[in-house]
Amino acid sequence: MSKLISVVVPLYNEEEVIQESYRRLSQVLSSLEEDYELIFVNDGSRDRTFELAREIQQKDARVVLVDFARNFGHQMAVSAGLEQARGDAVVIIDADLQDPPELIPRMVEMWKGGAEVVYGKRVSRQGESFFKKMTAFCYYRVLDALSGWKIPKDTGDFRLMDRKVADVMRQMPEHNRFLRGMVAWVGFRQEPIEFVREERFAGVTKYPLKKMLKLASDGIVSFSGKPFGIMRWAGGALSAAGLILLVVLLILWAVTGSASGWPLAMGATLLVGGLNLFALGICGVYFERMYDELKGRPLYIVRQVYRGSEEAL
Ligand code: UDP
Ligand code: MG
Repeated sequence: MSKLISVVVPLYNEEEVIQESYRRLSQVLSSLEEDYELIFVNDGSRDRTFELAREIQQKDARVVLVDFARNFGHQMAVSAGLEQARGDAVVIIDADLQDPPELIPRMVEMWKGGAEVVYGKRVSRQGESFFKKMTAFCYYRVLDALSGWKIPKDTGDFRLMDRKVADVMRQMPEHNRFLRGMVAWVGFRQEPIEFVREERFAGVTKYPLKKMLKLASDGIVSFSGKPFGIMRWAGGALSAAGLILLVVLLILWAVTGSASGWPLAMGATLLVGGLNLFALGICGVYFERMYDELKGRPLYIVRQVYRGSEEAL
């Protein structure tokens, strides 16, 4: 039986691009030997995106349309698409053709060659503002330094994942979703595929600064307890400095019989402030644990269990 490839496309106010996007995706996907389904998720668009998507869905039996009650954001739209996808492999792609659909056949080839996740890695970005490129560049490096495991740099959500990986994603019920980090977290055989990020086909970005900041902070908060570690370090260092200062003053006082007031106040402030910060950092350990429990992620992820001579999951 031929395999099925699902393609998830989140849509928010994309009336200008949806038809072209559908045309190019269908063209590429029909050249595959696998079957395909296209899953459009209308994320509470306020323009004619829904009407256009509905028209397409009514004409084309391969199209599934999920219509959100309001705008829940890109990561939620993609999550809903993953939920609906029935394919043996699932591809996530933006609607605006910044991620070239023509890359999908190569992703599928790599998947057939054994990759369980194929993620698009942007080697360059076109038609995006200097500000966006620079902030993205810095952000991925800060995230890399802060997060406990490797989240590949310069990747968006354009990727293919095997059914097993898509199923694991569905078992991760966390509310603040940073999908590219979650996919990195699950493990499996992940391979990059390099591409040039094209200009948006039409329309403007649906990621204003506010949404970008939210995504950026989700990435760091969900994948790093390091800020607390920094607090423990800084707190420890400050209180140690305060303590040393006080000891020095004490010795001076013992030797000379007098000690001036302001270094004393300084030492005490450093010691108490540092201890405070350190204590907050310790609280952070508990916060981190609680947060881990709250996320409710699977404890471990099994690729396959081998028993006897049979293969069983
Ligand atoms: N998108 C969405 N909901 C949102 C914002 C964006 O579903 O609240 C979709 C959008 O339609 C597009 C994809 O997410 O398919 C990426 O958005 P965009 O291209 O505007 O982001 P950028 O490429 O500028 O980062
Ligand atoms: Mg875009």
